[in-house]
Amino acid sequence: MRALRLLEWKSDPVLVEVEEPVPGPGQVVVRVGGAGACHSDLHLMREFEAGLLPWGPPFTLGHENAGWVHALGDGVRGLEVGQPVAVHGAWGCGSCDRCRVGMENYCDDPGAAPAPMGGGGLGLDGGMADLLLVPDARHLVPLPDGLDPVHAAPLTDAGLTPYHAVRRSWPKLVPGSTAVVIGVGGLGHLAVQILKATTAARVVAVDTRAAALELAAGCGADAMVPAGPEAPAQVRAATASGRGADVVLDFVGSDSTMALGASASRMLGDLTVVGIAGGTLPVSFFSVPYELSIQTTYWGSRPELVEMLDLGARGLVVPRITTFPLEKAADAYRAMEAGEIEGRAVVVP
Ligand code: NAD
Ligand code: ZN
Ligand code: ZN
Repeated sequence: MRALRLLEWKSDPVLVEVEEPVPGPGQVVVRVGGAGACHSDLHLMREFEAGLLPWGPPFTLGHENAGWVHALGDGVRGLEVGQPVAVHGAWGCGSCDRCRVGMENYCDDPGAAPAPMGGGGLGLDGGMADLLLVPDARHLVPLPDGLDPVHAAPLTDAGLTPYHAVRRSWPKLVPGSTAVVIGVGGLGHLAVQILKATTAARVVAVDTRAAALELAAGCGADAMVPAGPEAPAQVRAATASGRGADVVLDFVGSDSTMALGASASRMLGDLTVVGIAGGTLPVSFFSVPYELSIQTTYWGSRPELVEMLDLGARGLVVPRITTFPLEKAADAYRAMEAGEIEGRAVVVP
């Protein structure tokens, strides 16, 4: 079968022929219906050095996957060949307290996981291929009616990651509150929709690209602010009564976006850094608002994926996608790098 593989750090992936996977006991092979192209893959191809992560190439890219059950290993119950499924992509040890509640993105024993804190497309073979080996049936969530694998795929990461980040801040997103979304790409355009679908917050979107701000408006954002020197004042002015943002979600994570997030925040707010551009934010008693909570988040849990898929199936959150055949997957990454993708690129083998 065909697979788009990253053979070493700081290189472009290549499309090669590999053996078809065969499921062992408890495992499932999924025929890939859609594999999203995430900006994290660009970080893997361009920036990551050997030794930075406990796992590395060679592996097949694609950590945002959905498709149909193709083959079941011995002992797998409750799934049928041909059934549409989404793949929860964070594959932990399966037996620590966190994994037992489905929070495998924060596995306490990553050394015992098949790819420590990674997963398919992140150390192990991912979904940019005809078939994907899923090492345990517990990672699969059956697709609800109304959702096809091509649209479900981006919901497993570009949807699930902001869903988790928004959900943990729900108590602060009351009527009268403001949420700011910085970076309206694959994750950010879904963050805007998730905020509108699950909270009463006013939503302010920030991006460097005019097309991204148009997309934010189309997704229901209440105010759009171009990134730049005027952005801190404009974002604050766009928050309810100019008091600042109750919740800022930074889908870029650079020095400048984190500084913008801190300056736009309200006392008692949340500043959540999701983007991994590698920026830092100096924190001192006088530099950030009182009781501002600052955190990074990684992906989301399996129960949260079930909720995310429900939002998708009911049409409350709809990913804007551009599809690419597997032979053109490299073009999807090039287009994302050039800022030409509206929403998410999804590779359809
Ligand atoms: P994307 O390329 O689809 O979108 C990024 C958006 O940010 C683009 O619209 C771009 O124009 C905008 N942008 C860039 N610089 C900006 C700036 N200075 N100010 C405002 N906007 C700016 O990327 P994506 O796939 O949505 O991923 C976003 C980030 O999140 C990446 O760093 C990715 O690696 C990371 N990520 C993190 C997790 C996690 O679990 N923490 C999961 C998935 C992706
Ligand atoms: Zn990702
Ligand atoms: Zn675990």
